[in-house]
Amino acid sequence: TRRILLNERPKGLPTDNTFKFTEDELPELQDGQVLLKALYISVDPYMRGRMSDAKSYVPPYKLHEPIAGGVIAEVTESRSSQLPKGSVVIGNLPWQTYIIADGKGLMPIDPNLAPLSYHLGILGMPGLTAYCGLLFIGDPKPGETVVVSGAAGAVGTVVGQIAKIKGCRVVGIAGSDDKTAYLKHELGFDEAINYKTTADIQAALAAACPNGVDVYFDNVGGEISDAVYSLLNNFARIAVCGQISLYNATSQPMGPRVEPVLLKTKSLMKGFIVSDYADRFGEAAAGLAGWLKEGKLKYEETIAEGFDQLPHAFLGLFKGENIGKLLVKVAEY
Ligand code: NDP
Repeated sequence: TRRILLNERPKGLPTDNTFKFTEDELPELQDGQVLLKALYISVDPYMRGRMSDAKSYVPPYKLHEPIAGGVIAEVTESRSSQLPKGSVVIGNLPWQTYIIADGKGLMPIDPNLAPLSYHLGILGMPGLTAYCGLLFIGDPKPGETVVVSGAAGAVGTVVGQIAKIKGCRVVGIAGSDDKTAYLKHELGFDEAINYKTTADIQAALAAACPNGVDVYFDNVGGEISDAVYSLLNNFARIAVCGQISLYNATSQPMGPRVEPVLLKTKSLMKGFIVSDYADRFGEAAAGLAGWLKEGKLKYEETIAEGFDQLPHAFLGLFKGENIGKLLVKVAEY
C-alpha cells in the first residue's frame, strides 16, 4: 500500500516537506478484518489543526504516521461477516491506497442512493455542519438577512442555499469573481462579495445588507468577520463554525473587541463542532437528502485525481482552489 505520513509539524502554511510518501507491504488479513481499497479521500480544513500538537477537540496526528480523515472505500477482501466483499463503506481512515480495518467505526453506504463522493460532502460531515449550525444556532426566520463567509466552499454553499429555502436574504463572502458569480447566478444568493478585490468589505456588506445582519455563519474569522459584526441587528445569532483565515497563523491577530456589539445588540455567538449535534443527524441527513432530491439544493465538487494529489489538494483549501467540496478520487469503483 502507498501511504502519506505526517513528516513534520508545519509552521504556517504546510509545505511539501510536511508530507512523506511511503510504500509498504500489508500483512495477511486476520479473522474479522477487511481489506479496503480507497476510492475517495476527503481533504478538510480541520486537518490543519491536527497537524499541530496544540490541544483541540480532536487529538493531533502522530509524527511519521499516516494522516487520516474521511475516506470512502470498497471492501476488496473480507474475513468479516458484517462487511462482505464488494460493499462500500465510509470511515475515518488513514491516507493509504489500501487499508486493513477491523470494521469498527465503518459505516456501509448504499451506492445507489447518490454518487459515492456525496457522502464526504453534502450528505456527510460538511452538509451536516451546514444544516446543524445554520438551523440550530442561526435559527433563520423568513425575511431575515443571513451572511455566510467561506460561502463558495463545501459548508458555505449548503448554508446559503438552506437559508434561501428558509426565505432569507442571503449574502455570501468568497475569494474570487468566479465564486461570487456562481453564488449569485447558480445558487441564488442575493448578493456575493469578493473579499480579495473589495477594498472596503464593511461598506460593501452594508450595501448588500440594507436591513442589517440577523444571522452570521462564520467559516473564516479574522477581518472578514470583523466587518460583519458592526452590522448585527438586535438578537442576531452568530454560528462560529470555522476560522480558516487563522489556521496557518503563527501569531493571533488582534481585532476590534466584539463584546460591546454583542451586548448592545443582545446577540448570541456560539462556537460548535458538528458532532455536538450527533443526536440530530438523522433529521439533518433526511432534510438534506430530501432537498437534494427535490432539486432545491445544488451541489458542486472539485475533484482532484490520484492519490499523489492529496497534499496539493489539501493545500488548495488554503488557496481557495475549490468551489464546493474538495476531495481526491483515488480509484474507480
Ligand atoms: P471549504 O470548502 O470552504 O474550503 C476552504 C475555503 O476557505 C477555501 O476554498 C477558501 O475560499 C477559503 N479560505 C481559505 N483561506 C482563507 C482566508 N485566509 N480567508 C478567507 N477565506 C479563506 O472548506 P469547508 O467547507 O470544509 O470548511 C469551511 C469552514 O468550516 C472551515 O473553517 C472549517 O474548519 C469549518 N468546519 C467546521 C466544522 C465544525 O464542526 N465546526 C465542520 C466542518 C468544517 P476563498 O476562495 O473564498 O478564499
